[in-house]
Amino acid sequence: MKWVSVTLLYLSAVLVFGCLIYNFRKPRQISIEPPLRMLLGFAGAALLLNATAMLTTSLQMAYVLFGIYHIAMDFVVNGMMCFVRRYTGLRVYHPKIQTAFGLFAIADAVLMMMNCFVPVVFTCDRIADRFGASFYHVSSMSALYIVHMLLIYAMVFVLVWDLIRKILQSPKIYKLKYAVILILDCIVVICHTIYLQFGTKIDYSLFWYAVVAFSIFYFSMIYIPRGLMDKLLYFTISNMQDGIICLDIENKCVHANRTAKIYCDFEIDQQVETWFMEEIPLDAEDYYWDAKRRISGGMRYYRIQYQKIFDIQSKYLGCFFIIQDCTKETERFESEKYRATHDALTGIYNKEYFYEMTREQIAQNPAQNYCIVCTDVKNFKLVNDMFGIQTGDKLLLRIAGILRSLAGERWVYGRLTGDRFALCVPEEEFNEEQILRKIVRMAKLTEDTVFKVHIHIGVYKIEDKKLGISMMCDRANLAIRTIKDSYQNIVAYYKENLRESKINEQKVISEFEEAIRGRQFAAYVQPQIAVNGKVRGGEVLVRWIHPERGMIPPGEFIPIFEQTGFISRLDSYMWEVACMRLQRWKNAGLTENYLSINISQKDFYLLDVYKTITGLVEYYGVHPKNLHLEITETAVMNNPQTQLPLIAKLRNYGFLVEIDDFGSGYSSLNTLKDLQADILKIDMGFLSRTAHQGRSKLILQMIIALAKALRMEVITEGVETQDQVDFLKAYGCDIFQGYYFAKPMPIMEFEMQYLNRVFRV
Ligand code: C2E
Ligand code: CA
Ligand code: CA
Repeated sequence: MKWVSVTLLYLSAVLVFGCLIYNFRKPRQISIEPPLRMLLGFAGAALLLNATAMLTTSLQMAYVLFGIYHIAMDFVVNGMMCFVRRYTGLRVYHPKIQTAFGLFAIADAVLMMMNCFVPVVFTCDRIADRFGASFYHVSSMSALYIVHMLLIYAMVFVLVWDLIRKILQSPKIYKLKYAVILILDCIVVICHTIYLQFGTKIDYSLFWYAVVAFSIFYFSMIYIPRGLMDKLLYFTISNMQDGIICLDIENKCVHANRTAKIYCDFEIDQQVETWFMEEIPLDAEDYYWDAKRRISGGMRYYRIQYQKIFDIQSKYLGCFFIIQDCTKETERFESEKYRATHDALTGIYNKEYFYEMTREQIAQNPAQNYCIVCTDVKNFKLVNDMFGIQTGDKLLLRIAGILRSLAGERWVYGRLTGDRFALCVPEEEFNEEQILRKIVRMAKLTEDTVFKVHIHIGVYKIEDKKLGISMMCDRANLAIRTIKDSYQNIVAYYKENLRESKINEQKVISEFEEAIRGRQFAAYVQPQIAVNGKVRGGEVLVRWIHPERGMIPPGEFIPIFEQTGFISRLDSYMWEVACMRLQRWKNAGLTENYLSINISQKDFYLLDVYKTITGLVEYYGVHPKNLHLEITETAVMNNPQTQLPLIAKLRNYGFLVEIDDFGSGYSSLNTLKDLQADILKIDMGFLSRTAHQGRSKLILQMIIALAKALRMEVITEGVETQDQVDFLKAYGCDIFQGYYFAKPMPIMEFEMQYLNRVFRV
């Protein structure tokens, strides 16, 4: 018996240590490993100690070995307890419990060591087995042995309790795994109790410790239950967000989860057949494609994966489909793309995307001719300033709405910047009338204002398709510039010469500084003739005497200077020239003669007109009544709130204010009602442009009469014929200016030949 037991004990120890070494070689880095190693290590040691104690021939050695064996057992059970805690996933023990167990273990260890010298805990005896082989065994236990037993049973109780709790809480498929450990533990306890109760010579529970240690190691580290795995896989697939369909070698559905069934409308076989016919290329081993589908009213986007399955010998086993719902990602992507390509305010394409889509459209239809149509709101800044940003935004939204209704699905359109929008329209579909009708309808900004919105439209009929879209838009915008200041013209078409004029414009701008420094701007004067024939003064008109191009008329540079802001510098220069002349006249005793200067509308924004002009007359000691100020009707009426008081101020100072170009713009009798000026200067174009001469003459007659009644003098400019002189004189016109009498001339020539000369009128 002795030799069988000893051999079995050694073999068990080898088995347990084998497990320990295996685990060290192939660690799995999981939390149950440390207590498991402790359990295996001490169980192996306990087995070795017990067997060796049986073999020893020295009583003292038997005491020592059995003593250490008992301590090792404390660690075995403690390792088991800690292992169960981790294995069941319960919380680690409270520190107080750990301390209590620790103190017990120390007390037990001290007692066991003392026992080596004085047998206070247990005694050892040498006995013989049935076959006469003698060995040492633990023969009796004293009352102090209870410390050891209490420790062991307390730990066993705790671990059994943990296991029972876990078994009760766990799903069915897991109960077994905990139950196995519980049953093995119970067997150990029972064997041990039998050993204690009946005083068997050999502690057979030791073998069970080996079995428990090995089983725990095997079940926790090596064994994966097939059924559990199948079940887990089944539930994993069933609960997956993605749809999964598995087909066998004959393309019969083996399994499809719920998501897949919903996607296929519960017609899996039919759907799979369609995929094989329409989507998946023959012989493809894996393949992806995108699909979308309306489910419960909303559009959902999917990415579908097809893949063949092969075994280790590369034999075809079947295939599977994964249906991945990417609605969220797609929507996020779409909304990001939308934000990157659309204008935040109006929701229509932004500039970059308009360019891109237009480029695409033109490239895709090479036989089709297109027009680029750009729009621009006249004085949009004024809308923002006067009515606030919100109204400005409302206006932009309205323009975007018009474009949307005009373009529908067919034309590309977008917002370029600020108040600029663009359309790309097939040439034969471009209909000026239709666009005008829509645009004019929104002329009124709000019901309670008289402010009219003017929208200009520039059209570029694409001739050079290779030109960048931004250049095409530039050309349409260039066309708008030709009508920028006009209220009557709404649509302008790009012509090749516009580009030349743009180049010319750049040249004019670049030459300005040089011209002003080189005194290339000359003052010409056109005489003004009173009804009695006397020339009392004239209008100062600028001429650019260019060193290469000769004399350039103001029409070619004034509008450019007005756009760039150079006009204020040119005008101040011209005003100074006029004042210098008037100073010389005054010194020569010519105090009754006057010069009339032009003030551009832009001067009012760029300069302090009042300060500049009064400064000049004071500096040159000129009487203000000798300086007439020509201000256009448009300049006054565009901004009457500031212009009317300014005119009053200038008149109070002593200047005579002329309303220039009356009748050339949107002249209205309202102007006369509000405007108190000294002289009304009627534009002759007013007369010549009108077809019904009779009616125009009548209106002219009435305006002159009205001006006179308002105690204003009347000048008519552009007088070219004797007939005009005659009827204007008859209507009561006071002063004439025009080619009939004289063209503008250098100021010296005017002074020498015309000043105070008397014409026969
Ligand atoms: P405006 O102030 O209306 O000047 C009158 C224009 O009519 C002058 O053209 C003059 O030459 C022209 N004119 C006079 N009599 C007749 C006529 O019988 N028949 C015809 N067909 N034309 C006649 P000009 O000198 O070419 O000036 C054109 C415009 O340039 C002026 O129109 C004025 O608005 C602007 N301008 C000229 N000089 C200056 C200046 O120094 N400063 C500013 N701000 N503008 C100026
Ligand atoms: Ca003038
Ligand atoms: Ca004029």
